[in-house]
Amino acid sequence: MSDVVQALSEAFEGNSLLVGQDVSSRKAGFWRKDYIQAMAIVRARSTEDVSTALRICNAHDQVVIAHGGLTGLAGSAITSPDDVVVSLELMNKIEEINTTDRTMVVQSGVVLQSIQEAADNENLLFPLDLGARGSCTIGGNISTNAGGNRVIRYGMTRNLVLGLEAVLADGTVVSSMNKMMKNNAGYDLKHMFIGSEGSLGIVTRAVLKLQEQPRSQETMFVAVESFPKVLEFLKTIEAGLGGTMSAFEVMWQNFYRLVTTAPAKNLPPLAQDYPYYVLVEAMGGDASGDHERVELALAECFEKGLIADAVIAQSQQQTDDLWAMRDDVGQSRGLGVTFTFDVSMPISKMESYLQTVDKRLSEHYENYQCITFGHLGDGNLHLVVSPGDKGCAEDQERVELCVYEPLGDIGGSVSAEHGVGLEKKAFLELSRNENELNLMRTLKQALDPKNLLNPGKIFDV
Ligand SMILES: Cc1cc2nc3c(=O)[nH]c(=O)nc-3n(C[C@H](O)[C@H](O)[C@H](O)COP(=O)(O)OP(=O)(O)OC[C@H]3O[C@@H](n4cnc5c(N)ncnc54)[C@H](O)[C@@H]3O)c2cc1C
Repeated sequence: MSDVVQALSEAFEGNSLLVGQDVSSRKAGFWRKDYIQAMAIVRARSTEDVSTALRICNAHDQVVIAHGGLTGLAGSAITSPDDVVVSLELMNKIEEINTTDRTMVVQSGVVLQSIQEAADNENLLFPLDLGARGSCTIGGNISTNAGGNRVIRYGMTRNLVLGLEAVLADGTVVSSMNKMMKNNAGYDLKHMFIGSEGSLGIVTRAVLKLQEQPRSQETMFVAVESFPKVLEFLKTIEAGLGGTMSAFEVMWQNFYRLVTTAPAKNLPPLAQDYPYYVLVEAMGGDASGDHERVELALAECFEKGLIADAVIAQSQQQTDDLWAMRDDVGQSRGLGVTFTFDVSMPISKMESYLQTVDKRLSEHYENYQCITFGHLGDGNLHLVVSPGDKGCAEDQERVELCVYEPLGDIGGSVSAEHGVGLEKKAFLELSRNENELNLMRTLKQALDPKNLLNPGKIFDV
């Protein structure tokens, strides 16, 4: 047993410390086939536990990786056999809900769906929502600054967190559990930890900002005949919905066909031969008035020739079916070897960007497919690229160059919402300039001088 594991075993009893087979029998991630490799996993039950673990690891110059729900898609929670993992899975308590202040205090291992349900029980809304809601943790959401389906209305995770508590590499606890919307008393330290992928500190608790529960939810699905019309539809429907629009999700024809054709379980709500489809959600405060507003807004879009066909969900089941179709990204696993991307750009550049990617892919692959969908209202596209019959893992770098390089010229980002981790590290310079990268390194050096927290992820120091 190494010195550091010996020291940890003296501080943590029973199943609070896992070693050997108890570590290697755990899956490494949501869609991963491999298992965790690490010297030990500390299952922290409190902030003090996290602080103790980090203090011990710091004294032994030991690398530490934080684990939440392991649903991350950027390879930022990957470990090596020499690492120690601090898992937040047992820090899963909702400590307080204040319906007047509209705040919720949570430990960082609480699963997102539990937070949504707890808010719902109090007639409040925690608007963060993503396909991994049943497995991802709020600590992971904070550490990746997760986006998801309702960013266009409520913002990213960064906008939904009022305060947080984090433990630094040397075990120092920085408790910044602010509960106010306004607090300009010096630097807003929480933002250092939000989106830093566990490289600056381990988040242990957070204060979340809740919203009043909307009284109506309207979901509509429309077909559109050209990309310029998609953009004009976005402007017209947003204006028509009078501030109630909460999602604007676009599916290109290839994604729509994939998720509405067997073996997919969803049936196509509209014919499959339009080039673009949009799922629009509105959440408002006046059930009957909001329905009428949706009908009027859609009628205006029809009159202007912006949409070719449309359905409005008439029941919760129909709403769920429309969202199930959007969430059924797993169908792409049937395409064989694929590479997935999460990129963003000004929406005015989106059409020409996709044409460039298509051109570049076609120069290398005869039968490639580029399945496209995403949170278009946020400028965020997800691409699933299949190089075709002869595709293999070695194609990854070539496909990445086809997708990432054109982003540099248009001010786009190689990571819209999933983070950088190991997956996008090599391409970070396309989206961040030298001075930005240097300042990131300065911050890392100041908070984690020994480079022990999730080292080698995002960038090398
Ligand atoms: C089906 C599916 C759909 C998804 N949809 C979306 C989407 O729409 N939008 C989106 O943004 N993402 C999406 N994701 C990605 C993923 O769910 C998010 O990145 C999520 O925020 C990760 O949370 P997690 O608890 O699983 O974190 P993990 O995967 O465990 O960790 C992710 C990173 O955060 C760090 N970390 C975890 N917990 C802590 C902590 N307490 N303190 C410090 N660092 C920590 C880890 O070290 C790692 O660097 C999706 C994933 C899946 C599988």
